[in-house]
Amino acid sequence: MRVEGVRGMRDILPEETPLWQSLEAEIREAFAHWGYREIRVPVVERAELFSRGVGEETEVVDKQMYVFPDRKGLELALRPEATAPVVRAYVEHGLHARGDLAKLYYLGPMFRYEKPQLGRQRQFHQYGVEAIGSPDPALDAEVMDLAWHLMERLELGREGLFLRLNSIGCREDRPAYREALRGYFAAHADALCPECQRRLETNPLRILDCKEEGCRALSRDAPRSADHLCPDCRAHFADVEAHLADLGLAHELDPTLVRGLDYYTRTVFELCSRDLGAQDALLGGGRYNGLVELLGGPPTPAVGFAGGMERLVILLSSRSGAGGSVPDLDLYLVPIGNEAKREGAKVLSALRRAGISADTDYMSRSLRKAMQVAGRSARYAAILGPDELARGQIKLKDLASGEETAVGLAQFTADPRAFIR
Ligand code: AMP
Repeated sequence: MRVEGVRGMRDILPEETPLWQSLEAEIREAFAHWGYREIRVPVVERAELFSRGVGEETEVVDKQMYVFPDRKGLELALRPEATAPVVRAYVEHGLHARGDLAKLYYLGPMFRYEKPQLGRQRQFHQYGVEAIGSPDPALDAEVMDLAWHLMERLELGREGLFLRLNSIGCREDRPAYREALRGYFAAHADALCPECQRRLETNPLRILDCKEEGCRALSRDAPRSADHLCPDCRAHFADVEAHLADLGLAHELDPTLVRGLDYYTRTVFELCSRDLGAQDALLGGGRYNGLVELLGGPPTPAVGFAGGMERLVILLSSRSGAGGSVPDLDLYLVPIGNEAKREGAKVLSALRRAGISADTDYMSRSLRKAMQVAGRSARYAAILGPDELARGQIKLKDLASGEETAVGLAQFTADPRAFIR
């Protein structure tokens, strides 16, 4: 019986993994240049981490989270995002006690029960940074600079990209803004989807992320968070914009941008691509000045972002004829006969230990077929048959030029790098 994979959870096949690996390497290097160090948090957390941290009313927690009891009945969740886990680890390991800015990054799979479509899956992969410990608006700008830089490294260029920015103020600003939204939406309640009619009572801010067309149309004219900021938040936002201007980073103010997670305060942003269609956000982030305290730590301001790997893969693989046929192996060994096969196994083992990528035929292929495989997969073929064995030699064929040379088997095994460049 064939058992199929789970809907929305994709295999990343060997043809695709080189692109993923190079993307991961670029991301790690960019993050390291900006002073971030990697943290690895578990894929499974207590469900309450997200219901408290991300917010009970958010779509991510309410509709999309994979929640299940363990064998003792403890309610667990597959992580739908990593900011709450990173902050949990920050509090749990007393990173705050070190009194400095903690600059942490992560890469890994996240899980959300969403309707799968291009660029939207149930298991997807995020890369992200969290800078925990400073309220400095220059840090908000630095985080956005890093986001831009990452896209430049990946040669996604500035033309198709744009930065959406907004400020949603602090916890103290929230009640007045919430009331303003409630008043506005209540006057148009008939046009709201049933879900948003409920949100009107519980959390009207979440109406602004609703994807239903009627709700979106209403949201466009809704009261703006930027008009409900206290003087401190207004000054912080002005400073963020000034720092962005200093860094030469263009942005568009988007008053409807609130982001779907409850923990955000003040700055929120998304870096989007005009080439991605409906799912245009490459990455999103902002400040979350209340989250550390909410999860049991001291009051600690923080800012970060997370982006989806799949969306980068879509853009990068549509751009170039990715997955070109560069041979994976340095050498492919073609033994002829049993004795050569046994001798060849020793040669192969030595080559691999010398750092040369090498493989051979285990499918009893004919010489001609084995040479075809060599031609597809390696830069050199090494032919070892009874004649070569009798002379203590091995025949090396440069598969690009076609040039053949017979070399001493002992010398080749002792110092293969002298023959393979
Ligand atoms: P969020 O954690 O919702 O702010 O999302 C941050 C980024 O993660 C988005 O901009 C996307 O690039 C990516 N992302 C979020 N959800 C998914 C998903 N279901 N599938 C693929 N990528 C996603």
